[in-house]
This record gives sequence, structure tokens and C-alpha cells, in this order.
Amino acid sequence: MAYVISDACISCGSCESECPVGAISAGDGQYVINADACVDCGSCAGGCPVGAIAQG
Ligand code: SF4
Ligand code: SF4
Repeated sequence: MAYVISDACISCGSCESECPVGAISAGDGQYVINADACVDCGSCAGGCPVGAIAQG
């Protein structure tokens, strides 16, 4: 299961650079994770200031 970003995301952008495979990008109103690219490393989740990233 890939990690997912909830609608709590405030689009701060800090998670984008944390992803080693470039799976995170700015979406429409919030950031999104490409489930096909995510390798479940979890490194993005801890840095989110609003806890919007969790394992799906
Ligand atoms: Fe990227 Fe790892 Fe987060 Fe998946 S869990 S989006 S691979 S940083
Ligand atoms: Fe959204 Fe959290 Fe990523 Fe910031 S770190 S863009 S609030 S998911």
C-alpha cells in the first residue's frame, strides 16, 4: 500500500523534497502521492506539519 495525503494538507511543500523517488507533487489544492511510484519508505510522513500523510 502506498502512502496517501489527506485533505488536511496545507500545501506547504516540505514533503516533496523528502521523497527519494519523486512520487510527491503539487496537485489541485493539495499535494498528492503517485501510488505507482511510492515505495512505502515512510520518510515523508514524519515531516508533515499537519500530519496529513499516512499509510493508505
Ligand atoms: Fe515517497 Fe516514501 Fe513518502 Fe512514498 S512513503 S511518497 S516513497 S517519501
Ligand atoms: Fe501537505 Fe504535509 Fe506535504 Fe506540507 S508536508 S505539502 S502539509 S502533505
